[in-house]
Amino acid sequence: IQDEIIKVEKMKVVSEIAASVAHEVRNPLTSVRGFIQLLADPMLSDGKRQQFSAITLEELDRAESIIADYLSLAKPQNEKLEAIVVEDALAKAFQILSSYANLQNVAITTEFDSAAEVYGNQAKFRQALINIGKNAIEAMPDGGELTLKSSVDDESRTVTITVRDTGIGMNKEQLNRLGSPYYSTKDKGTGLGTMVIFSIIDGMNGHIDVQSKVGAGTTYIITLPLAPG
Ligand code: ADP
Ligand code: MG
Repeated sequence: IQDEIIKVEKMKVVSEIAASVAHEVRNPLTSVRGFIQLLADPMLSDGKRQQFSAITLEELDRAESIIADYLSLAKPQNEKLEAIVVEDALAKAFQILSSYANLQNVAITTEFDSAAEVYGNQAKFRQALINIGKNAIEAMPDGGELTLKSSVDDESRTVTITVRDTGIGMNKEQLNRLGSPYYSTKDKGTGLGTMVIFSIIDGMNGHIDVQSKVGAGTTYIITLPLAPG
């Protein structure tokens, strides 16, 4: 009977997650469908055509990132764990974020410690960094500065990664709600990004401290144990 209850509970979780994914992904897909219909109009001006294709691509990226977030929450049995060079992961995240940052007039500064290696799944770690960076950029609608840093502490055998933005910041109440599922203050937000960040860093035995000041900006301070050896 116990086994049966667990099985039913598991099925409930699976169906809840499936319903959420379907719901979240449907919005961008509906929007893509609409814009493709508009694009089929032969009278459409070049300007509009460009604008609509850009939106279509953006919406497809949004669907892709929602799926990526849900996948990060799942813990596949055969997930590959390996030593990750923090500098490389930060550089990759920086590369992926740079066009988005450009678009929003955000300048990125980097300062990496070359010696750091952590242990975990490369794709998930990168996803966490990208989610943090995306939120930072989205917090600076009028442009600003995004700083990515890493530094090793030999004594405690940890690496500290800081991601600082000069954006809108958060008040106490918002900070407290950070990381709860579906908490979002954005029109097209999913409120999954931060939950994914916390879950991934937690899975790597790391710790996240978030400091923020309304109107001044936000700093994510991530501390991770160095990979053994
Ligand atoms: P989403 O980005 O889809 O809204 P997230 O889970 O990534 O969902 O973030 C949840 C909320 O946390 C955001 O809507 C925003 O209000 C707040 N937030 C997260 N990071 C920052 C940041 N760097 N600056 C200001 N607010 C932030
Ligand atoms: Mg986000």
